[in-house]
Amino acid sequence: MYIVNMRLPPVGSTQNAVFSSLDEARSGDAQWKRGRTFSLVYAAGDDVADVQQGAFFRYFSENALNPMAFPSLRRFETDVVAMTASLLGDESAVGSMTSGGTESILMAVKTARDWARKERGVRDPEMVVPESVHPAFEKAGHYFGVRVVHVKLDATLRADMNAMREAVSDRTILVVGSAPAYPHGVIDPIEDIAALARERGILCHVDACLGGFLLPFAKKLGRPVPSFDFSVPGVTSMSADAHKYGWAAKGASVILYRTRELRRHQYVVYTDWPGGLYGSPSAPGTRPGGPIAAAWAVMRYLGEEGYLRLAKKTLDTSDAILAGIRSIPELRVLGEPMMSVFAFASDEVDVYAVADVMQQRGWYIDRQQRPASLHMMITPAHADLVEEIVGDLRAAVATVKNGATSEGAAAMYGMLGKMPDRHAVEDFVLDMMDQW
Ligand SMILES: *Cc1c(COP(=O)(O)O)cnc(C)c1O
Repeated sequence: MYIVNMRLPPVGSTQNAVFSSLDEARSGDAQWKRGRTFSLVYAAGDDVADVQQGAFFRYFSENALNPMAFPSLRRFETDVVAMTASLLGDESAVGSMTSGGTESILMAVKTARDWARKERGVRDPEMVVPESVHPAFEKAGHYFGVRVVHVKLDATLRADMNAMREAVSDRTILVVGSAPAYPHGVIDPIEDIAALARERGILCHVDACLGGFLLPFAKKLGRPVPSFDFSVPGVTSMSADAHKYGWAAKGASVILYRTRELRRHQYVVYTDWPGGLYGSPSAPGTRPGGPIAAAWAVMRYLGEEGYLRLAKKTLDTSDAILAGIRSIPELRVLGEPMMSVFAFASDEVDVYAVADVMQQRGWYIDRQQRPASLHMMITPAHADLVEEIVGDLRAAVATVKNGATSEGAAAMYGMLGKMPDRHAVEDFVLDMMDQW
């Protein structure tokens, strides 16, 4: 039942009718609880979900816009920022909670732009980012008038330092590295990037949206993790998503700065409004209390011990799936993934067709390009499914190898990946987004 051009109904429905419409509508959605997705949902189990929801609903209506009205939310936010800072190498780092990684990145770029304008007089700002960096930087460039200079990756799929060095100019306000980058799960050479920033007197952001709440525990578990946080001199800001491997409810990320002086450039204050003195720390006006309270509650509930347990489960599961993929001769893992996010490609079969076959078997796997590859982000929801995932993948590769034709989605992805006219691809995506 889907009504096109729905209008507000003249009279309401019963609560039960509304809820059953919701349940019916979502029955066709991705089955993340059964481990069928490899992105979008980070599930830590029912007990953590109970904590998220209990805290979220307690603060369902509260608004963190005005900390005078809700001092408890201000305290939770300060606590979450401090706990995150202490995980990321500098207990004295300061910051804010935001609605997600994108907003954290928007704030980092706005702060860098305004800092460079004031301290260095930069009027036509640029930022230098690796090709693998998250598109949130594209969005930030777009919103804040900062030109985005992309540099290529080296053979290990990390930022090419020679290219980065050459790309930095007097207009550069920010250099960026990811820990890890989303497409391949590899960590950029943060020490080199931060050293370059120091040498040139510019700011350096580490996008640890994915790794911020997992890498510190991976390291404690004895895995090799290169230095990526504030322990590296020259790193001036970091983003870490509590709503990813921090296991918090959606709508929770942390943006951190090395100094208070830097953070002030993030804030917007307007003192002449008839509505009163207005100060806003980040992008939104109204700030939902639920995600802040839920992030605080989950961190307190899990503690270091809980985070270590979930990190171990995630990393062990990821290792097992990676080993399974490496045992399929037609597939090759790209680069050296450092945690539980990775991509694989093939020189022998069309991986987009493999994804289609997997989809018929109920698995939703994200498609990537340059090169054509499939992407997985592993969570504890996959722990009991390793053999099923690898077995189905092996069977899907065989099906494609035996001549299953690429049609539907595979044909479309194949064509879009190879189209030389990227404006035409942009139009295609815009048209798709225009359909609803
Ligand atoms: C998810 C992600 C982001 C963006 O975060 P959102 O919460 O989706 O806005 C930025 N960088 C990396 C590396 C990410 O994985």
